[in-house]
Amino acid sequence: MSVEPNPVFAELPTTIFSVMSALAVEHGAINLGQGFPDEDGPVAIRDVAAGALIDGPNQYPPMRGRTELRGAICAHAKRFYGLDFDPDANVVVTSGGTEALTASIMGLVGQGGEVVLIEPAYDSYAPIAGAVGARVKTVKLAPPHWRLDAEALAAAVTSETRAVMLNTPLNPIGRAFTREELEGVARVVARSHAVAICDEVYEHLIFDGREHIPLITLPGMAERVVRVGSAGKMFSLTGWKIGWVTGPAALIDVIAKAHQFITFTSSPALQLGVAYALEHEMDFTLNLTKTLQANRDLLAERLARLGFEVLPCEGSYFLTAGIRGLTNESDRAFCERLTREAGVALIPLSVFFSGGQPDHLVRFAFCKKREVLEAALQRLERYFHAEARSRGGLGSPTVYWGSTAEGGEGGTA
Ligand code: PMP
Ligand code: GLN
Repeated sequence: MSVEPNPVFAELPTTIFSVMSALAVEHGAINLGQGFPDEDGPVAIRDVAAGALIDGPNQYPPMRGRTELRGAICAHAKRFYGLDFDPDANVVVTSGGTEALTASIMGLVGQGGEVVLIEPAYDSYAPIAGAVGARVKTVKLAPPHWRLDAEALAAAVTSETRAVMLNTPLNPIGRAFTREELEGVARVVARSHAVAICDEVYEHLIFDGREHIPLITLPGMAERVVRVGSAGKMFSLTGWKIGWVTGPAALIDVIAKAHQFITFTSSPALQLGVAYALEHEMDFTLNLTKTLQANRDLLAERLARLGFEVLPCEGSYFLTAGIRGLTNESDRAFCERLTREAGVALIPLSVFFSGGQPDHLVRFAFCKKREVLEAALQRLERYFHAEARSRGGLGSPTVYWGSTAEGGEGGTA
């Protein structure tokens, strides 16, 4: 008898992040694909975790997370957004944002329910929605400004919709939704039977003086929104996989029941490290934002000069750019060629869409040391200058970001 694994996963390819990272290693390419910093977060945080590994605790922590960490997560939400959360009722600590999202979808959406994704969407949402037997509906944003239109969202929401996934700042396009856009989302959610699962893992990585606005802070949203966070992104410790979900007790209770059978809990030493970090190392995060913004600017300017059509970037680790000035091949073929021939690995944007996607956009991760970005840019410059010599010149530079503080409404530079 043949075996019949779950088709949701059996038919899935391996995530693009692993694929491009492996290709980068194979070709000795600089990896601007998978989003991870190449400098670890503060040693003081690692010291606290290392001490706890040696001295304990080393047995199962409480299912919802160590008290110290739940307290620190609530204090952070109060400090930055004025949110009043009770550590015993409104928080679950998870194994990264990934598990927080999975537990939220599993807890809040059942068989036959609908999940609305705003595309481009992070690649873990759809398979988990599929695995719980939910139908996925999508709202597609359009480049270059990727505005979120409440009417388009309303058209995708039905009486069967149980969750709207909202990621801001948004991986891969770096959009940070404005208050006006979020008010539109809040109106749609309030009129529906859905909750919003807000993926805010890049909440502090937001540029040009913009403010991160959690949807849960908008009127009428306190009972309808859960918020996902990740220490990996805040403290440049992506391998630690400590994340959390915060929100109303009624929703957190159900999410905790999903979490208890996914992982039950996560490393106590790392939880204590993150509790320390949230209390003592937020300056690291706030400074990281400044470094990332400078990295974005460096990359944007130099890529534009090479003929990339650089799109706005308001937050996250990622800058996106159009490649039609350089090639007619698909984004994926272009990324593979660049990895092999130029020695720089990127991520094609088409993987973040479910169909009908643009295939002329690529994503650069700029959460890297300055010298690594410089080296990558020099490789790209050598490669494209050599190519341009054989074609008779580079295209004209295009930059959409930076000319207004409001939302990257700048035109062609
Ligand atoms: N959501 C988004 C948008 C992400 O980019 C990532 C990870 N890069 C995650 C969730 C997962 O976070 P974690 O690494 O903490 O699991
Ligand atoms: N979120 C990271 C990115 O977008 C990758 C995370 C992963 O590899 N699963 O690059």
